[in-house]
Amino acid sequence: MKISRASNIDVKRINRTNTMRSIFSCDRISQRELAAKLDISWPTVLQNVKELLVLGLVEEVGAFESTGGRKARAFAPVRDAHLAVGLDITQNHVSIVLVDLAGGLVRYSRMQKPFSMEDSYFQFLGEVVDHFIMESCIPREKILGVGISLPGIVDESGKLLARSHAIGLRDVPTSAFSRHIPWHCVFINDANAAGFAELRNQEDKRDTVYLSLSNSVGGAILLDGSLYMGDNQRSGEFGHHTLEPDGKLCYCGKRGCLDTYCSAKVLSNHTDGNLAVFFERVRAGDTVLCSVWEKYLDWLSVEVNNLRMTFDCDVIVGGYVGGYLEEFAEDLRKRLAKRNTFEPDATYLRVCRYKLEASAVGAALLQIEQFIGQL
Ligand SMILES: [Zn+2]
Repeated sequence: MKISRASNIDVKRINRTNTMRSIFSCDRISQRELAAKLDISWPTVLQNVKELLVLGLVEEVGAFESTGGRKARAFAPVRDAHLAVGLDITQNHVSIVLVDLAGGLVRYSRMQKPFSMEDSYFQFLGEVVDHFIMESCIPREKILGVGISLPGIVDESGKLLARSHAIGLRDVPTSAFSRHIPWHCVFINDANAAGFAELRNQEDKRDTVYLSLSNSVGGAILLDGSLYMGDNQRSGEFGHHTLEPDGKLCYCGKRGCLDTYCSAKVLSNHTDGNLAVFFERVRAGDTVLCSVWEKYLDWLSVEVNNLRMTFDCDVIVGGYVGGYLEEFAEDLRKRLAKRNTFEPDATYLRVCRYKLEASAVGAALLQIEQFIGQL
């Protein structure tokens, strides 16, 4: 009896969550469309919608014209009913974002702040979160919490930063990062966070590999609608694929890692750390930088092709460089098609949707997903 009761509750919760997701995936939807989309009975849909209306997550917005009989009621998502904050910690910067229930980036800010283990750094994080929420003029009760993206391996419980080459830490409790932040905090690896943001955006939740090209290179493997973490939470460390035996020295201490050929720094080091300026000069035809970019695309095509050969699924390229890749995607696809062992095709390559602060957004989305999962 207990088992069947529990599963009934589960089914109810899943139906309610799915009803919410369906309404949130569009601007407005009629009751008929909603029932068809969810493939559940109209009385069940109606009950779910009623509950979502009471919770203030959905609103009724007039009615659709009908070809006959009564007008169809229409519902719309209340995207800002709740919001979450995302923080992305890197070696030299802190980014902060505000994300709504639909995953929309409401506002963001990025500041230079070299990481340090001193308490003043963690105090700074607390102040940044406080100011950001205050400036957003959002009632505090609407904030679900803070998601924090870290440049390293976060253990399964989210309580330990097991290792970070980027900020030189090993076995540090993640609570160190949140000790001056008076909100519920959750933690995730930066590339997994960015990959999670992309996955959440996919309607069909198909298997995908995400390659993150930021100041370090990482990635995420998205299988069966969730992140594949590996035995030690180290999956998707594509940055340390060896591209060239005995090649350039990587920050991990080994040689020839992808990171040394395809991190965003490989490009931005030519323009005083400013990636936007790098691409401006490439567009303007700067010969030296164009040749740097050509070489970069070549190495990138080696890696993306390797990922395709390994996983046989779509590959999304994101991170700082991914944000600029749209206009060069056809060029990259041509290189990939040439490398493809099976057919001269590279339509599997996709450019990231989140061009800005994907890691911070993904971290905030953990809070949003927790909220939706508990509805
Ligand atoms: Zn390495």
